[in-house]
Amino acid sequence: MRFENQTAVITGAGSGIGEAAAKRFAKEGANVILAGRTKEKLEKAARKINAECERECAHIFPADVTDEEDVKRLAQFIEDKYGELHILVNNAGGSVHSKILETTVQQWKDVQDVNLTSVFLVSKELARLLMKAENGTNRSIVNVASLSGHKAGAHIPHYSAAKAAVINFTKALAFELAPYQVRVNSVSPGFVETPLTKPGLKNERFAQSIERNTALRRVGTPDEIANVIAFVASSEASYMTGSDVLVDGGWLIV
Ligand code: NAP
Repeated sequence: MRFENQTAVITGAGSGIGEAAAKRFAKEGANVILAGRTKEKLEKAARKINAECERECAHIFPADVTDEEDVKRLAQFIEDKYGELHILVNNAGGSVHSKILETTVQQWKDVQDVNLTSVFLVSKELARLLMKAENGTNRSIVNVASLSGHKAGAHIPHYSAAKAAVINFTKALAFELAPYQVRVNSVSPGFVETPLTKPGLKNERFAQSIERNTALRRVGTPDEIANVIAFVASSEASYMTGSDVLVDGGWLIV
């Protein structure tokens, strides 16, 4: 029970990697707050988590993490309900495929907003709650970046740029929060089967090319990423801050 009596916020927790991370934190004793835009998705995920908990450990908070007012309301909700925060996982994100010459300025801005600005905004508003937690307790932010932040992906120029920026923003934030004993790291998944990638994986040629390019010859599962997020967030990683952990099935070594 690595997260007993700890409170964790996971953004984009209604599906995929975020849902798996919320499930993992709750299983190990945390109170989890699932944030995302679609209430029904959050309710479904929370129901599943609570069914496995002996208490009501999952709460939902519908919010758009690119909206400053929504994020401020999220911070207020946590402060009122729990008083302090131990873990923040900035996981919400996504992209659309488009070639650089065909990418509109609005598409560019939208992808920066959801993948990068949201990480800044949520970290900024929730940092004071992490800084408030009792001295000596585990306190940590984990940002979900991407393999694309290390190696630019084809036809996702905006996403590749945003995720590379998340990795470097993580280091800047780690430096600022270190005096408060709040650790900040990122986890960079490779190709994982989630609602974000499922449509592409239905294309057999595309799925085969992913397998060919991955040393382990398969896509990852949300749980395999959640396991690493949980380790990085836990006190087992107490001397780790400003780092990025690549979990890509060996994509970069092929
Ligand atoms: P997913 O299932 O689509 O999860 C993304 C979640 O983010 C959704 O539940 C979505 O819910 C939420 N979200 C999107 N925009 C939001 C906003 N403005 N405010 C609040 N919530 C928002 O996809 P996933 O694959 O698990 O992605 C999770 C993270 O992993 C993302 O940051 C993604 O870039 C990263 N990643 C994924 C892969 C992969 O292969 N799957 C690889 C590398 C990195 P709502 O639409 O209901 O808000």
